Amino acid sequence: MPTPAPVLPLIDASSHWPERGALIGLDLGTKTIGVAVSDPDRRLATGVETVQRKAFKSDAARLLAIAAERNAAGFVLGLPINMDGSEGPRAQSTRAFARNFSKLTELTIALWDERLSTAAVERELIGMDVSRAKRAEVIDAGVVGYTIVQGLERYRAFAKSYDPDIVIDQERMAVMVGAGISYGDLSSFLHQQGFALHNLASLPQITVAGAIATATHGSGDGNKALSSAVVGLELVVSDGSLQRVELGEADFEAMVVSLGAFGIVTRVTLAIEPTFDIRQDAFVDIPWDELLAKFDAISSAAYSFSIFTKWSGPTASRIWLKTRLAAQRPGEFDITRLELNLGSNLGLKPGVPYSVPATVENPLALLNPFGVAGPWSDRLTHTRREVAPLPAEQIQSEYLIARPQLQKAVAIIRAMAERIDALLYATEIRTIAADEFWLSPAYRQDTVGVHFTWKKQIDAVDAITKELEALLIPLGAKPHWGKLIHADAATLAPLYPRMADFRSRVLSHDPEGKFRNAYLEKHVFG
Ligand SMILES: Cc1cc2nc3c(=O)[nH]c(=O)nc-3n(C[C@H](O)[C@H](O)[C@H](O)COP(=O)(O)OP(=O)(O)OC[C@H]3O[C@@H](n4cnc5c(N)ncnc54)[C@H](O)[C@@H]3O)c2cc1C
Repeated sequence: MPTPAPVLPLIDASSHWPERGALIGLDLGTKTIGVAVSDPDRRLATGVETVQRKAFKSDAARLLAIAAERNAAGFVLGLPINMDGSEGPRAQSTRAFARNFSKLTELTIALWDERLSTAAVERELIGMDVSRAKRAEVIDAGVVGYTIVQGLERYRAFAKSYDPDIVIDQERMAVMVGAGISYGDLSSFLHQQGFALHNLASLPQITVAGAIATATHGSGDGNKALSSAVVGLELVVSDGSLQRVELGEADFEAMVVSLGAFGIVTRVTLAIEPTFDIRQDAFVDIPWDELLAKFDAISSAAYSFSIFTKWSGPTASRIWLKTRLAAQRPGEFDITRLELNLGSNLGLKPGVPYSVPATVENPLALLNPFGVAGPWSDRLTHTRREVAPLPAEQIQSEYLIARPQLQKAVAIIRAMAERIDALLYATEIRTIAADEFWLSPAYRQDTVGVHFTWKKQIDAVDAITKELEALLIPLGAKPHWGKLIHADAATLAPLYPRMADFRSRVLSHDPEGKFRNAYLEKHVFG
């Protein structure tokens, strides 16, 4: 008799399996067992057989024969947990089956929470307009394929992160992820499971750890920076141990936006909400005076707002408004109201929608579609998840300005407009709501971000950004931690009321300075 195979949650099981090799997905019904098999790379799964249940011994023998034929590396069993998270008789009998089956094989058996895959099938079928009566039978047949496909999707997302587990805690409405996962992978996974993050930055490739450490933000008057979704952190600290810190605990506000100064973040817990749809609309050419006069009305007109422009023309050239749709289905959204509101009330001129075919030659093809509602995960970033970003032939800098100072900041920048535009691809202006993180540029201040994507002319951009910083810092503007930044610690410290506290907390967590680097020395410690 072999040693019983381990029976583990999917993520734990994944570290027991070899890197390649088919996985066998099993959906245990009372009369049948649905069997699906993945390819050796675990990218696709297809249903292969429905085993009619007779007796445990003969059923198990058939499953083992299928596994042997396919040279399988492991099994994945759907665990039918109740929607409230409790386990009823079906889950118990699945566990009992797994226990008994594990005595007959050495292949690790994974248990995969089936709730989410059933929900995914249901959503898919609603999309395909299958009638409610028919839906129940189709779901039963489809679930085995989905069980394994969804499981594999989750499994692949893990492989990209430091610690591959994504755990959704529905009761707490939070997701725990490996810190190295990108927002693109995380947001597509969350949307498929029916959840959302509150906001995203302009592109999907950045990681959760890199974004929260630098107070990376999206836009919207009511939207705080991405770090504000953090409710828990796990990090390797200077003595090599693993430390957890939760929202509400001492030092949390120091440790989230912390530029890596407290240690290596391994896992992050983020607040989630039910998934939602967004529609983005483009408007063009608003005169600068009018824009500044109506700034609050325009920036608050939609869930998220961006202005893209150069500086020397008479108008700010493009305004993008991302409207959060109350209803889940686009058809239920009253688009005329949106257009009336934005067009007439604000006097904005509609722009050509950028819904263009995706070709690599056309840079607009990098953008998510306009004028069409879609999931938050495919609208809150500007660029599409499936399109690789263009090579980084650019330099970025951004200045975070308290809202009351915007008018003065724009005057300063417009006075340098010709020189700036000669080096500029585009500026993006966004709004960020106040938060509580000690090193956040929006600490207790509603803020406007004025971003510059510069051409890669290193010396000239170096000079002009030094000049811009020197002119804007006296207004209280803070350079973005994750972009080009010149000011030293002595210049930056007065902008951050909790900077002294931050330094002292870092010193007590990392007295030997194991996590110090040249960046921290220059901009934080001095
Ligand atoms: C094309 C482009 C578009 C951008 N768009 C936006 C935008 O829309 N909004 C915005 O605010 N910013 C934006 N940025 C800036 C960007 O968000 C930051 O530079 C961010 O840090 C990039 O994330 P990353 O995953 O590349 O981080 P990295 O460069 O990998 O990390 C940045 C820093 O975070 C810390 N860090 C990273 N991982 C860990 C860890 N595991 N533990 C502890 N500390 C860690 C370190 O201090 C590190 O130096 C953009 C940048 C680019 C290049």
